[in-house]
Amino acid sequence: MEIKSGSVVAMAGGVGGAKLAHGLYAQANDRDLTVIVNTADDFELHGLHISPDLDTVLYTLAGVANPETGWGIAGDTFATMSALARLGGADWFRLGDQDFATHIRRTQRLREGATLGEVTAEFSRALGVLDTTAIVPMTDDPVATLVETDDGLLDFQSYFVRRQHADRVLSVRFSGIEAATLAPRAKQALTAASVIVLCPSNPIVSIGPILALSGTTDALSSANAPIVAVSPIIGGQALKGPADHMLASLGHHVSALGVATIYRHFLSGMVIDDADAHLARPIGRLGMSVLVTDTIMRSELDRRRLATEVLEFAGALRR
Ligand code: GDP
Ligand code: CA
Repeated sequence: MEIKSGSVVAMAGGVGGAKLAHGLYAQANDRDLTVIVNTADDFELHGLHISPDLDTVLYTLAGVANPETGWGIAGDTFATMSALARLGGADWFRLGDQDFATHIRRTQRLREGATLGEVTAEFSRALGVLDTTAIVPMTDDPVATLVETDDGLLDFQSYFVRRQHADRVLSVRFSGIEAATLAPRAKQALTAASVIVLCPSNPIVSIGPILALSGTTDALSSANAPIVAVSPIIGGQALKGPADHMLASLGHHVSALGVATIYRHFLSGMVIDDADAHLARPIGRLGMSVLVTDTIMRSELDRRRLATEVLEFAGALRR
């Protein structure tokens, strides 16, 4: 797909990011949309390459995501998982039968020499994602989030799923990040963008790896587009997951202000929830515009409404 100017670029992790990405997908109209997705959660299990955040974005945009969990495929069954467990295989990371097909096919294509970006494009086409939208893995290079806890260094999924993010987080590192580069497709999209949106994803482990890649900071500072973020922290808490605990243990304010502070070097605008209206002033003092609105996406209508507000807000900003 040719990259046209006037396009919308979003950065996303998994469940939180995918919801706004879905709204943007519906509201971008004739504009191209590129969703740059975190791959530092990727890992291998049962000999298969699993890309949790990519799959969440893919399934959500394709309209097949499980609406209850936000991840996995709606109506999926778990016969393979049960049979695997019977044979002594791991069953702490839930994978549905249809979901397994994604990982089997991805692993096969990667072994054949395809890049993760190519495989993701193939899957998007196969699942009927509009061809004006590109779901782009942040990099084709291997990057893995490691979480340092009191029990030692854990790989991300062991921390997040197996131990249900109960451990205190002492530090987070992205193994492989020094050698990894932002995917060229993502870089081009950022350069040509008219709006760049950081979705309400975990700032440390979902957006953090994208920002840490060689090439991202340069691409953001040379981009002409306004860059806006939607806070995943509302009223001092994450709606789901460990973002609040992670921010706290890494010494950040656990608030939309804390998130805006992390992004302050490149952000033109911050979108915060009505519940955090009192933070509009301190965030404004960081040198960015602020939109206060309802940022909780309960329904698909909420996703589209928030996406429209974010696009209008960004459209009125200048770099
Ligand atoms: P993960 O990779 O599946 O953990 O998902 P993300 O990193 O993309 O998103 C996790 C974050 O999304 C959490 O910090 C949540 O607080 C946030 N989140 C989830 N749903 C919403 C929502 O409807 N609105 C906002 N503002 N944040 C949300
Ligand atoms: Ca994730």
